[in-house]
Amino acid sequence: MKTEKNTEKTEAPAKAAERRAVSRRTREAELKGIPVSPGIAIGAAFDTTETEEETPRRSIAAGAIEGEKHRLADAVSRSRKQVAKLKSRLAVLPEEAQEELEPLLDAYALMLGESRLLRGARRRIVEELLSAETAVNDEAEAIAQAILAAKDDDKPGLKRRAGEVREIARRLTRNLTSTPFRSLKDVPVGSILVAEELTPADAALLDPSRIAGVATDEGGADGHTAIMLRALGIPSVLGCTGLTEGVARGDAMVLDGATGQVVLRPGPAALGKARAALAAHARERTKLSKLRRLPSVTQDAEEVELQANLEIPAELPLIAQAGAQGIGLLRTEFLFMNRETLPDEDDQFEAYAQVVEAMAGDLVTIRVLDWGGEKDIEALAEGFEPTHAGTNPALGLRGIRMLLKRPELLEAQFAAILRVAEKGPVRILLPMVTIPEEVRQAREIYDRVIRRLRRRGLNLPEKLPPLGAMIETPGAALAADAIALEADFFAIGTNDLAMYTLAVDRAESEVAHLYDPLHPAVLRLMQFATEAALRMRMPVSVCGEMAGNPRLVPLLLGLGIRTLSMNASAIPRVKQAVRSLKIDDCARFARRVMEQSDPKRIQELVMGFEAGGGA
Ligand code: PEP
Ligand code: MG
Repeated sequence: MKTEKNTEKTEAPAKAAERRAVSRRTREAELKGIPVSPGIAIGAAFDTTETEEETPRRSIAAGAIEGEKHRLADAVSRSRKQVAKLKSRLAVLPEEAQEELEPLLDAYALMLGESRLLRGARRRIVEELLSAETAVNDEAEAIAQAILAAKDDDKPGLKRRAGEVREIARRLTRNLTSTPFRSLKDVPVGSILVAEELTPADAALLDPSRIAGVATDEGGADGHTAIMLRALGIPSVLGCTGLTEGVARGDAMVLDGATGQVVLRPGPAALGKARAALAAHARERTKLSKLRRLPSVTQDAEEVELQANLEIPAELPLIAQAGAQGIGLLRTEFLFMNRETLPDEDDQFEAYAQVVEAMAGDLVTIRVLDWGGEKDIEALAEGFEPTHAGTNPALGLRGIRMLLKRPELLEAQFAAILRVAEKGPVRILLPMVTIPEEVRQAREIYDRVIRRLRRRGLNLPEKLPPLGAMIETPGAALAADAIALEADFFAIGTNDLAMYTLAVDRAESEVAHLYDPLHPAVLRLMQFATEAALRMRMPVSVCGEMAGNPRLVPLLLGLGIRTLSMNASAIPRVKQAVRSLKIDDCARFARRVMEQSDPKRIQELVMGFEAGGGA
């Protein structure tokens, strides 16, 4: 029998790798990733890359052949990039693991070239009128069966090669359907979810009562996936190189979402350590929960408002438990995720009303749709065609830019928010503002909606919701004084501000080491925008992930910030920090930090700050 050419080439090293893999996959292994959501998880791995979901068989009309061939070509190109990326990151793994994985990845790369698998899949699309995923799976299965039926004594070798073909078909299918995580209903309770990558929309579907932890190969600390996982309170480690290749479904695992440590197949010592850490974590949470009723004031009686960020309504109980003083950022993207049609004004009204009523008189800041960037466009409602993700979505039609192009979306959102204003105090926040004109244009639309609602006979409150601007691009920060003339308040989004200032994608693990909100350039922009707001006596808050880091509280207070909005679970620790500080010390400390130009030195100063003593 003629075997798959590409696997033949790599057979010898791959065989040796197979032997090592068997032993490695039974041994304890420690990996290090990016800690994104604190907490200890102990559980069995549920590796989603192994999911053998039934992909529905689909036939196509003759007129759809070209389209299917394009879909396949796109999926091949995405798969190639993923495999190349995995290969480029091998260097950080121990030598033994590198030797084992390299031939495997080479075999994958060859199959994604001009291979029998792809030739066969294309032929099936044309001759059998099959969808790309059905064609790939049928062809892969035919090849796998032929390999297994070969007259060869090396049965484990045949099995391995058949497995490689099926594995690459699974990768192609994942890339063709973009729905790898939709059916997590069957994940055994207490599992640790393992994936190459998780989108924010996939993360929003996770049920924290079933999933003990999340670990992925890709991802960064302040991407929206990380934010969503923190919001759900699921201990998580992202950007953990070598993870999916090193673990098998059902393997025991522990992870520490505060340090980024992941242990696969832990032995008794590692398990004992993890159990002790889990108990300590629970004790600390009980201690922190006692802070709930204490005021958020510094030692010298300066009040600091601690608000919550909200990604999905499921967080509301957590927000109440944490003792948040309102919601400083309600990201409305959740309403548009994982659904087939756009939410209309009434759908939105109901969703916002649920939040405003639950907050019982505390302020709720609702940000209008921030669509684009690394927020998974495909996973949002199908009824909407974003003009295009473009080649560089983060610099394209994102946030307010998109809404001003599609004013009917903004109108529906404004109307729903205005209607909710009679239930409690609300504010409206505009994302991705870069020029004052955007606020002006949004306000014109806002005024139009107000007039329309009044004509409809709606009783709007006398004091209408203020319209604020996110300061999350260097342009907005440097033009903050001009934007302050148009906006009613500022919310500083340090996640995007750091990304755009440093030209570092916040969700990209490859450049995670360069993503540093403490870079002096970011801090200077924050200072500039804060001072512009304070001069105008305009409310200003920080609602990026910096706000939830207790270590950064002295610096933020020292820069003049008095309102911080963060994921609810961070509030107790931040409150503890606030209560230990004196504003004068913070101001002195901030001045010292702002004199520095070396990010490393700033890190040192921040880590070395001690309440009462300064740095
Ligand atoms: C930010 O950019 O800091 C922010 C709060 O907005 P998001 O994280 O939703 O982009
Ligand atoms: Mg942002």
